[in-house]
Amino acid sequence: MTESFAVPQIVIEVIYLIASALFILSLRWMSSPTTARHGVLAGEVGMLLAIGGTLLHHGIIDYKWIAIALVLGTIIGIPLGKVAMTAVPQRTAVSHAFGALCVTLVGTAEYYLRAPDISPFMMAVIGMEVILGSLTFTGSLMAAGKLQEILPQRPLTYRGQNFVNLSLLAVAIGLAIYLVMHPGATHVFPFIVGIPLLFGISMVIPIGGADMPTVISLLNAYAGLSAAAMGFVLNSKLLIIAGALDGSSGFILSVIMSKAMNRSFTNVIFGAFGQVQAAAGGAEEAKQVRSATAEEAAAILSAANKVVIVPGYGMAVAQAQHKVRELFDALTKRGVDVKFAIHPVAGRMPGHMNVLLAEADIPYDRLLDMDEINGDFPQTDVALIIGANDVTNPAARTDASSPIFGMPILDVDKSRTVMVIKRGMSPGFAGIDNPLYYLEKTLMLFGDAKGFVGNIVRELGGGQG
Ligand code: NDP
Repeated sequence: MTESFAVPQIVIEVIYLIASALFILSLRWMSSPTTARHGVLAGEVGMLLAIGGTLLHHGIIDYKWIAIALVLGTIIGIPLGKVAMTAVPQRTAVSHAFGALCVTLVGTAEYYLRAPDISPFMMAVIGMEVILGSLTFTGSLMAAGKLQEILPQRPLTYRGQNFVNLSLLAVAIGLAIYLVMHPGATHVFPFIVGIPLLFGISMVIPIGGADMPTVISLLNAYAGLSAAAMGFVLNSKLLIIAGALDGSSGFILSVIMSKAMNRSFTNVIFGAFGQVQAAAGGAEEAKQVRSATAEEAAAILSAANKVVIVPGYGMAVAQAQHKVRELFDALTKRGVDVKFAIHPVAGRMPGHMNVLLAEADIPYDRLLDMDEINGDFPQTDVALIIGANDVTNPAARTDASSPIFGMPILDVDKSRTVMVIKRGMSPGFAGIDNPLYYLEKTLMLFGDAKGFVGNIVRELGGGQG
């Protein structure tokens, strides 16, 4: 780029300022389903401005490599944007891995460009950037591999594992401190990249598949912090703001998810939770369940005054949300009061059920959070569970030996009748049996969620005609 085309720095700063404001608004708007679409749009425009502003930077002398990177990024990005909703957690992990790799490479380049003339503050920031960046890179890849079932989902543990892991981290931090004191020790730098790469792998190996989304949002927080550190290194306020937003929102999300599962961070990271237990189907086979047909279910539902629908992961897998909307319409038309009970970790990612039900245009005011709806179950005629399992498991309240003991659940067992749509007696993500299915008041509606709900709707329609 020649001097005559140079864009004044102030213009770039203004573009960055607008982008930063849009990122903040985006997070604000995404916190409510009614404004979420604006939030996504604001985030997209903000990112476009951030990239555009960066491309105007006077320091760029040749666009060739940037153009190649943009084309490559687009080729990788388009299929990533088209994955099924159920695969979004692993897709998000892959995005974190790319971001973290980028941060690590920039940190490494900046170190070798500047060494040995690096102030202690700058060296500390570069150290934080590459340590967090490299552990997030491999940790995110491991998390994505586990969720995609390329790697075993179960926790892989061995004696002294936590000690080994913490030692790896301590050594990396120790070496970073050494570099702060001796920034010219270039031979040490590869270790503060390499050891955290190893740590990222060993940190995620002992964590079970069920905890992976929590780990991903924690890694999101690390990626954000490392990007903020990169902002200090590159003197970019935009990166500092975006990284801080990313880091804090990822952290808040991990806290919310851990709370919803009644787990502490240390328990998620060191607890080796999520082992698939063989119990379901074995000793439980002798237990009896009562099942019903779509016709019987339709009759019970149309005779009810109050129905609470509890969607879960199975509704997402079956893509049954539009049929559920038809059921909602059919029942509402008959004067039945229908509400939806949303558990914070139903499905496989935060907000999973809200997104699907919003896609099917179910009115937002019918969607109630766990705390809002739990008091209603004793006055509910029918709790209709569609593809949910763990989030309705009363063992979480009553069985101290259960791996999900203490997790807050939807108190569906307190309603007069419980109906459960699922294909068979398979357990949910936690891999444990659900005593709800063996209660006197429970009717199992065996079948695919979309097909079964469709049959109920047909029966209700038939009744009307
Ligand atoms: P679960 O994973 O507990 O259960 C889903 C049930 O859906 C299964 O038992 C399965 O039974 C049934 N199912 C699967 N496919 C279909 C289908 N096509 N039609 C009908 N039913 C189907 O889901 P929940 O939503 O209740 O719980 C979510 C779990 O995921 C919790 O353990 C939670 O802790 C965990 N988790 C969630 C996170 C989140 O952010 N949302 C994050 C981390 C973990 P069957 O095969 O017999 O049909």
